[in-house]
Amino acid sequence: SDCAPQISGEGELQMRGLILIEQGKVALGERPTPRPGPYEALIRVTAAAACNTDLEIVEHFIMPPVQGRFIGHECVGVIEEVGSEVSYFKPGDRVCVPALTPEWRSIEAQQGWATFSNGGMSFDWGLMRDGTFAEYVCCRDVDMNCGKIPDEVTDLQAVMVSDMISTAWNGLDNTHFRLGDNVAVFGIGPVGLCAIAGVRRKGAGRIFAIGTNPKGIELALEFGATDIISYKEGDVVAQIRKKNGGPVDVSVLAGGNGSTVSQAYRLTRPGGQICSVNAFYDDVVISPGDWNSGMETKQMTGYQNTGGRWMFERYLNMLKYDKTFDPSKIITHINHGLEGLEETLWNKKKRECLKSVTILD
Ligand code: ZN
Repeated sequence: SDCAPQISGEGELQMRGLILIEQGKVALGERPTPRPGPYEALIRVTAAAACNTDLEIVEHFIMPPVQGRFIGHECVGVIEEVGSEVSYFKPGDRVCVPALTPEWRSIEAQQGWATFSNGGMSFDWGLMRDGTFAEYVCCRDVDMNCGKIPDEVTDLQAVMVSDMISTAWNGLDNTHFRLGDNVAVFGIGPVGLCAIAGVRRKGAGRIFAIGTNPKGIELALEFGATDIISYKEGDVVAQIRKKNGGPVDVSVLAGGNGSTVSQAYRLTRPGGQICSVNAFYDDVVISPGDWNSGMETKQMTGYQNTGGRWMFERYLNMLKYDKTFDPSKIITHINHGLEGLEETLWNKKKRECLKSVTILD
């Protein structure tokens, strides 16, 4: 639902941001500045990050038509104004805004699946309401959704929690493995790199990181990977099984396509878990030999971040106290000011770009 616009003596207050004009085309423009509803907050954006999903939305319209709204779903900012029922946050608080903002008063939230509150995925930014590539955002159910950023955590670190860390680590929070288990991580983009940092901290033994991006390889090794595997050197499953002396205990899917899922089934031991934190847009075929014709339990789960203050403040707490993981190192491209927003989006098309951020303060 839309927030009502702010009205001053001279009429509707406007805010600027990057509008989706038509498929493949964005431009800076104005939209009404929202007035927060009772449980909402108006947040001044201080840093906004671009995601592959933004590119998919702009270029391939993977979501319902969203022309005319600001794009973007990842940001951090400062609370400007709170609704009448907001009690935890106050103006001036630095907050990490989740990519998904569930309705915590929904039946799905009571069932434990807040991500799908009110019958659909709680991915509202840029669709149901204006997105985060803007001067301001209006966050719903703010007390339940946003995380307060500790003083010790920078905006550039915290903006990586908005979707990348929260998606990777929520998947891992729901993946069972024991100290010393061997893990394969498919993909060394931002989510894959955050997953590597996560499995290292959860106590994995050997960590195979699959990918070829040079900067990604450098960071994968820094964040805890023990082996880099390249698909350019042949079948990655055969390579890992040979090095590992057999299947791995856990596979994390943080990239690839439908065939990557069957690779993960082939690579993971019976009773092992496959943790998907990736968006797939094509069919998945699992061959009989990959799972003993369906008679071998290999559990696959699919997660992204669910939003939620508990989750976000836990992950921000990790960044506050574990200084050995600095997620801002994943940011390869930085622009400044509203004029930098469009470049921040298109930077995601560059092969050497891992994460692209605009600073707006
Ligand atoms: Zn994202």
